Amino acid sequence: MADVLVIGGGPAGLTAALFAAKNGLEAAVFDTDGTWMHKAHLFNYPGIGSIDGSVYIETLRDQVADFGVERHQGTEVTDVSADGDGFVVDAGGESHEADYVVLATGANRDLAESLGCDFDGDVVDVDVTMETSVENAYATGAMVRAEEWQAVISAGDGAAAALNILSEEKGEHYHDFDVPADADELFGSLVEE
Ligand SMILES: Cc1cc2nc3c(=O)[nH]c(=O)nc-3n(C[C@H](O)[C@H](O)[C@H](O)COP(=O)(O)OP(=O)(O)OC[C@H]3O[C@@H](n4cnc5c(N)ncnc54)[C@H](O)[C@@H]3O)c2cc1C
Repeated sequence: MADVLVIGGGPAGLTAALFAAKNGLEAAVFDTDGTWMHKAHLFNYPGIGSIDGSVYIETLRDQVADFGVERHQGTEVTDVSADGDGFVVDAGGESHEADYVVLATGANRDLAESLGCDFDGDVVDVDVTMETSVENAYATGAMVRAEEWQAVISAGDGAAAALNILSEEKGEHYHDFDVPADADELFGSLVEE
C-alpha cells in the first residue's frame, strides 16, 4: 500500500510524486504517456534556458525514479474510488490502495467527476493547496485550470499538493528546503578542488 497514488505523469503528477517521495512518503505514478510535453519546447521554464518537452519529461521521470517513486508507465487508471479512510485505484487489472490520491490527468477530468469532486464550471474545484471537495483527494495542473496551461504552473500545483499532504502527515507546516550540504551528501562535493 502506497501513501500517495498519483494519476497522470505530466509535469503536475511527476512533481507531486517527486516532492512526496523525496520527503519519505511511498508514492506511485500511473501514466499513459499522453502528456502535452511531447508537443512542446520550453523556453519559459524558469531556470531552464531551452529544453525539448520530451527531454524534460524523461529527465523528470529519471529524477522521480531516483527518489524511489514506483512508476507504472503505460498503465491506465480506469477507476478511483474513496474507501473508508483512503482510496482504491484500479489500473492494469489490479487494485491499489493509498491514503491520498493526486489527480493529474491534464485536460481529462473524467476520474475527478466519477470520484465525486465538485467542479467550478468545466474545471475541478480546488482550494489553494489543490485539495478537492473530496477530503485527501487533490487535483493539479490542466484539469483545474481553464486557460493557464503552462508546465511550470502544473509543476507548482503538484508541489503544492504534495507539500500539503506532507503537512497533514507530519501535523505541522512542512517545508522542503535543502541546503548545499544536502547536495554534497547526495551527489558528492560540487566544488572542484
Ligand atoms: C503544442 C503545445 C505547446 C506547448 N508549449 C508549451 C510551452 O512552450 N511552455 C509551457 O509551459 N507549456 C507548454 N505547453 C503546455 C504544457 O505542455 C502543459 O501545460 C503541461 O503538459 C500540462 O501538464 P499536466 O501535468 O497538467 O498535464 P499533461 O502534461 O497533459 O499530463 C497528463 C498525463 O496524464 C495521463 N493520463 C490521463 N488520463 C490518465 C489515466 N486515466 N491513467 C493514467 N494516466 C492518465 C496522460 O497520458 C498524460 O501523460 C504546450 C502544449 C502544447 C499542446
